[in-house]
Amino acid sequence: MRYISTRGNVSEIGFIDAVMMGLANDGGLLIPEKIPQIPAERLEALSHMSYQELAFEIISYYVDGEIPEQELKELIEKSYGTFRHPEVTPVQKVKDNMYVLELFHGPTFAFKDVALQFLGNLYSYIAKKTGETINILGATSGDTGASAIEGVRGKEGIRICILHPHGKVSKVQELQMTTVDDESVLNLAIEGTFDDGQRIIKELFADLDFKNKYHLRAINSINFARILAQTVYYFYAYFQVTKETGAKTVNFSVPTGNFGDIFAGYLAKRMGLPVGKLIVATNENNILERFIQDGVYQPGEFHSTFSPSMDIQVASNFERYLYYLLDENSKEVSALMDTFKSQGKIEVSEELLRQVKEDFAAYGVLGEECLQTIKKYHAETSYLLDPHTSCGVAAYEHCNDPGEVCVTLATAHPAKFNESIERCEIQQTYPEQISDLFDKPQYQEVVEATNDDVARKLESHFAKEKAI
Ligand SMILES: *Cc1c(COP(=O)(O)O)cnc(C)c1O
Repeated sequence: MRYISTRGNVSEIGFIDAVMMGLANDGGLLIPEKIPQIPAERLEALSHMSYQELAFEIISYYVDGEIPEQELKELIEKSYGTFRHPEVTPVQKVKDNMYVLELFHGPTFAFKDVALQFLGNLYSYIAKKTGETINILGATSGDTGASAIEGVRGKEGIRICILHPHGKVSKVQELQMTTVDDESVLNLAIEGTFDDGQRIIKELFADLDFKNKYHLRAINSINFARILAQTVYYFYAYFQVTKETGAKTVNFSVPTGNFGDIFAGYLAKRMGLPVGKLIVATNENNILERFIQDGVYQPGEFHSTFSPSMDIQVASNFERYLYYLLDENSKEVSALMDTFKSQGKIEVSEELLRQVKEDFAAYGVLGEECLQTIKKYHAETSYLLDPHTSCGVAAYEHCNDPGEVCVTLATAHPAKFNESIERCEIQQTYPEQISDLFDKPQYQEVVEATNDDVARKLESHFAKEKAI
């Protein structure tokens, strides 16, 4: 399996090099040169596996022998051994034909752990194997930061710096990131939005001298390894739900920000999983909903919402989808991304828009509807949705036809977003791991949202003696 860039100017590389490169050196995103196809008989065999066994099978298609079998198995066992649920990502029935896939049983109570526990161990494996220095740089809308720090803290030879938008993450998200007392961890609270943070790191990664000098590695979902780890639970959920309902296809409703998680679902479908509709659920930051409705991809005004991890205008992974939409034509992708840079929007033809609508349904959820949905499900089913999952459920209600079976991805535990839960006049008790955070001191530095300010902080953090 070789990896190429959506913009066509990176010579083919293997899995480990793709993980290390993160953002493609030509500014594009790395993708497998061919999507592996899993035949129906093989799917039947996979349907009887545990989460870990299934992860090994799916991930092996993409690692393609670069990590010896036994070591890859151990890496997967270790990554999912930190989850509090024996099934790792259990499926819960909420009502007939409606399920949620609970992705929040990892260390930081959000779905990002599924990929970042794996990526943390993968980086540690690579550091040991090659002696490479690994300095991780990431931007977060709240959950990735905590999850990435949890994925790498205490691992030999790895340092990490996370940018988060100052005052724009939930209290628990902030505490999870900033209460980690570890020399190798630097939290930068930037005076700006997530999009500013994402743009800064994208530009620092694109400065190849800077990237190479400081051995910068990515943990955002621009890293293909994250997408890969996330495809596994689409398979897992599909198998559980089809066994229970006898359905042949399953719809998925996915709370979406950076288009990472939904792209993982798209990939699973392209691999041969009989996925029905892929429903893109957004909040008021609805660039993706608008694109799917009218074929124009154009950032709008930024809104702070009840679902802050989806407060994103420019969705990094969208370019991966664009590549497939444009029939794998990297010249056209480059041209469109250039247009996006110069004119701030992308518009696709009627014909392509028809394809987009075949690939996705979409619904943008407004704040009040998000809260109403939490209240309604709590009252009717006593299931407490977090505000991101609530957007997913509201989109399911809007886009799912009667008779179709749908799984909504439950991307976070409600305890992470108590600000919104309180507005619904619902009392919840925090899991102990979360209530303990409130007594701990915080470590973070506030900086201006400019490349220079961030670069200076990085230089001093990453120039320290090699982490122990
Ligand atoms: C990151 C996140 C999302 C959005 O996921 P993307 O991969 O960026 O689309 C949704 N919900 C929660 C809770 C998140 O942390």
